[in-house]
Amino acid sequence: MSDPDQRGICQQCNSAIDALHSDKSVKKYGYSLCEDCQIWFITKVFNTTRETIQLYFALKARGIHPVLEVKEGLKRNEIIFPQFDIHIEVDCHQHHHYHRDEALKDLENICQGYQGGICELQIPQALIRWNLNETADILSVFIVAAESKQNNSNRRA
Ligand SMILES: [Zn+2]
Repeated sequence: MSDPDQRGICQQCNSAIDALHSDKSVKKYGYSLCEDCQIWFITKVFNTTRETIQLYFALKARGIHPVLEVKEGLKRNEIIFPQFDIHIEVDCHQHHHYHRDEALKDLENICQGYQGGICELQIPQALIRWNLNETADILSVFIVAAESKQNNSNRRA
């Protein structure tokens, strides 16, 4: 699951850790994490689905900086980008008529239509299971675009 390039680096805070420690963490948690971030991970993982964590780290691996936080009113973590008011929730409901191409296209359309402001994206769990890389690619393009949109409007203000 974990990217072999991440060996020796904490996937959460990017600090250097020794290879042995890194391997142990991958074995135990599925991700290469320093000791501090292992504690962070344990507190987060309790209220988070495996798919949310997978998407979170897939976005981080793409140079994006999401935050895992408890959704207001729910005891469940979601992925947020506080600076853009973008929330990403992995939808745990089963989608019986799930078509991966359709779901990816839908996500792409929503992302392309984003005009700024508050955005709540619901990602079908199955999309993370079967198309994690494609989903993370679409979302990271989306976040980078949101960032440049915000920078432009800051410049105009
Ligand atoms: Zn760390």
